[in-house]
Amino acid sequence: MAAFGVLAVVLSVYCVCFLVEGTYMVYNTSGGVVPEKINVHLVPHTHDDVGWLKTVDQYYVGSNNSIQVACVQNVLDSLIPALLADKNRKFIYVEQAFFQRWWRQQSDGMKETVKVLVSSGQLEFINGGMCMHDEAATHYIDMIDQTTLGHWYIKRDFNVTPRIGWQIDPFGHSAVQAYLLGAEVGFDALYFARIDYQDRAKRCAEKNLEVIWQGSKSRGSSSQIFTGAFYAGNYEPPTGFYYEVNDDSPIVQDDIELFDYNVQERVDAFVAAAYFQANVTRSNHIMWTMGTDFKYQYAHTWFRNMDKLIHYVNQDGRVNTFYSTPSIYTDVKHALNESWPLKSDDFFPYADRVNAYWTGYFTSRPTSKGYIRVLSGYYLAARQLEFLLGRIKSGLTTDSLADALAIAQHHDAATGTEKQHVADDYAKRLSIGYEESKDVVAASLGCLTQSPLSSECKSPVTNFNQCPLLNISYCPATEVDLSVGKKLVILVYNPLGWKRTSVVRIPVINENLSVSDSTGKLILSQLLPIVNASVSTRKFYVSAYTGESPSSAPKYWLAFTAVVPPLGFSTYVISSGQSSATTELIPNTVDTGSIEVGSGNLKLIYSGKNGKLMKYRNSRNSVNVSLEQSYTYYVGSTDELQASGAYVFRPNGTHTIQFEEKIPLTVYRGTLYDEVHQTFSSWVYQTTRVYKEKEHTEIEFTVGPIPIDDGNGKEIVTQLKTMIGNNKTFYTDSNGRDFLERIRDYRADWDLQVDQPIAGNYYPINLGIYIKDKNTEMSVLVDRSVGGSSIIDGEIEIMLHRRLLHDDGRGVDEALNETVCALDTCMGLTVQGKYYLRFDPLGEGSKWRRSFGQEIYSPFLLAFSEQDDKWTNFPTPTFSAMDPSYSLPDNVAVITLQELQDGAVLLRLAHLYEVGEDNDLSSLATVELNRFFQNRKINKIKEMSLSANQERAEMERKRLPWKVEGSNTEPLSDLRGGPIDHVKLVVELAPMEVRTFILDFNSDIVPYNMR
Ligand SMILES: [Zn+2]
Repeated sequence: MAAFGVLAVVLSVYCVCFLVEGTYMVYNTSGGVVPEKINVHLVPHTHDDVGWLKTVDQYYVGSNNSIQVACVQNVLDSLIPALLADKNRKFIYVEQAFFQRWWRQQSDGMKETVKVLVSSGQLEFINGGMCMHDEAATHYIDMIDQTTLGHWYIKRDFNVTPRIGWQIDPFGHSAVQAYLLGAEVGFDALYFARIDYQDRAKRCAEKNLEVIWQGSKSRGSSSQIFTGAFYAGNYEPPTGFYYEVNDDSPIVQDDIELFDYNVQERVDAFVAAAYFQANVTRSNHIMWTMGTDFKYQYAHTWFRNMDKLIHYVNQDGRVNTFYSTPSIYTDVKHALNESWPLKSDDFFPYADRVNAYWTGYFTSRPTSKGYIRVLSGYYLAARQLEFLLGRIKSGLTTDSLADALAIAQHHDAATGTEKQHVADDYAKRLSIGYEESKDVVAASLGCLTQSPLSSECKSPVTNFNQCPLLNISYCPATEVDLSVGKKLVILVYNPLGWKRTSVVRIPVINENLSVSDSTGKLILSQLLPIVNASVSTRKFYVSAYTGESPSSAPKYWLAFTAVVPPLGFSTYVISSGQSSATTELIPNTVDTGSIEVGSGNLKLIYSGKNGKLMKYRNSRNSVNVSLEQSYTYYVGSTDELQASGAYVFRPNGTHTIQFEEKIPLTVYRGTLYDEVHQTFSSWVYQTTRVYKEKEHTEIEFTVGPIPIDDGNGKEIVTQLKTMIGNNKTFYTDSNGRDFLERIRDYRADWDLQVDQPIAGNYYPINLGIYIKDKNTEMSVLVDRSVGGSSIIDGEIEIMLHRRLLHDDGRGVDEALNETVCALDTCMGLTVQGKYYLRFDPLGEGSKWRRSFGQEIYSPFLLAFSEQDDKWTNFPTPTFSAMDPSYSLPDNVAVITLQELQDGAVLLRLAHLYEVGEDNDLSSLATVELNRFFQNRKINKIKEMSLSANQERAEMERKRLPWKVEGSNTEPLSDLRGGPIDHVKLVVELAPMEVRTFILDFNSDIVPYNMR
């Protein structure tokens, strides 16, 4: 270490006494940059987890302190007088979930004081979302929503826009964070702590901790952001400079009248730490993160000691130090006008040391992850319906769901790395948010179906029910006896901007039912039995969720095909009538030959001997591949040095789940789809669906309770084996958006030392994973965040569930052993979910991954209304918010349509394809807003930054240009849609572009005749 040699000399020269008096001292904290010296930017901060060991509210008020002494209220209360005491002091605050709790309790006087501190730059909001969201187990739409909500509060209360991304704690970093939640929200830089320890060592050695990160190859140089990783891998001060009242760092004792005077010693330690860091950092500017989790509960101790350090270190003169912020640090780095290394792809997976890959949390708490995803899609649809209803006049809002979903994106929430009671708290918030949004949805649908001639819609005539537990075949609204002169109306809402055709399934109790569309025409339907495995799951979990035990169970799933216009609905009527098309049951006693399933283009071939899947064949595109599917578990390591736990995946051996030689196999064939039921073990049940009109397979898995009676924690994966020669290469999405190339046992940025060949090759999956060779692509799409990989060529595996008996030593101090109690018993948690599988000829897979992926994220929203026999039809039985002849192009999704509190409307449109991903759809797309909004006239339209807190043009004007090292780093294509023509109102979108607008409508034009 060269710096230490220099240091020894410097110390001996500078060892002079400081002028110290035992009386009142005025510390000189007014320093700024001194160009020829090492400049230490002291950045006072607190890292306040929006729930982890305690709930968000417990952290705020400071209760439950036996778990962790943490009170955010104390932080903010003590901060303000500490800042007022010296105008040179600075502080950054990040989590709006906490700040807003505090802000609404403050007096007008205090609010004015804080506004002055913010406008003077003493207090700066950075990052600025409701929480510091996770970057692996989160979907980009949720990341945008939670950031928008926080940024909106900051704009409302202080009229400022945060400049800096501050993702200091999340466990690895995504490409989408860099370009969408970084460059596209107008951040000038992004800082964080956690990158792989091997990567960090190399970056330290080569002074490459600070880079220009280009997160999207489609978005080119416009997706670049200056990015800094902290040299020590944490966001704490250097050792010895912690000043919370209970920290054991030496305080700076400068009163000569007292014992333990230590100014010279503290200055020497400061200078030594500064030299050490300067030695691994480019330029003579370094940042000290002066704080960590829940610090500054008594802010004065920190500032008192930092005041002294600034005073004495600057008096010493070897290095220069001052109060700073990441914004000031960034501006200084920018002003150096240097070139920085270019970084592409992302920072996953993260390992903090040998054998410690934080890839378990990609799947931890899979039912929480599933719940978040379901409600994320629901929130998108509910906001559309809130907009159609008009939020101001209805008095109902989706706001509490917005808040709950925002908090659930926190890096100890969506990750599953919180204590159980905190996970319960997130679920409770989500459930309350759902309940309130459900009323918005019901009111909106009630109004929209009412007579178009009605001039008022204050209380809709029709009461629509919804069924959040439909996935476990529980839906009181459909479980009604329709043989006694009743009709059941099903309204199917489609939140996507294009017309859609999908099979809808509901549980029913009657056998002889007919389904007709809104014109009264009978349509094809199909009955399937609800199998025993589903009945027992239903019974237990309905009791767990509702506290009530349903007396009887429906016998059948009734399925029919719904065809629904864009941003609209269709209605279907179910009544007693002729028997639905019956299903043919294939007994599981076939013991020779093969069983072919599927009545459309796609066929799955199973072995008649052992019930195993053998082949996948598509007659339309001649894809014909061998395919095996299995379930396997890893035993979680219990190694004292590193166990497998909520964060860390550390397998100890692989075990194929031993099922009988023969997997019991039952096939139900129908007019709409075929279903294959298989019991892999007493705790792994699977239903495979092959739809006549679709070319993918839907696999519904029910896994759990994972047995632990052998004393082993287990991590369950499903594996799909083919002959595809993918040569170690596979592709996984970044937060549901760009696909990144992954190569097994390889990292682009350093020579990987492989110590965990399975866990170290796991990546987060939010949309899907695929592999390919020169002929074929195999794609798997998922219904929630999971971890997955291709560990062997030709294979894809995804982790579905984890149950572990040891803590992995990262602070949560609980084993990830989820249980559910109901009906006087407690048992391990069962997860039920779906994944989807499809093969395509090379180059043709993205159409399905993108279009169907959007359908998975935004499923049909179903609402039910029971009617008597005399009921004929709704005045408006079908509806589209768009011009009836219009549809969004196949490559565009509307990811936000929301009426804001002031009545303006927030619209976000996203291009779904990357550059070069598809021959047809990776092209510039256009959206005609005049036809998108039927019956409304747009008065004013403003293009905004992604988080909608500033106009896009203003954001671009302020953007700092950075120079990238090397000659071959010319900006890639910066293809971007042109400025919007205010007359034609046509929006262009380039590949992977997301555009955000705020619209004002002409209020003289009455939409939908609802006023
Ligand atoms: Zn944290």
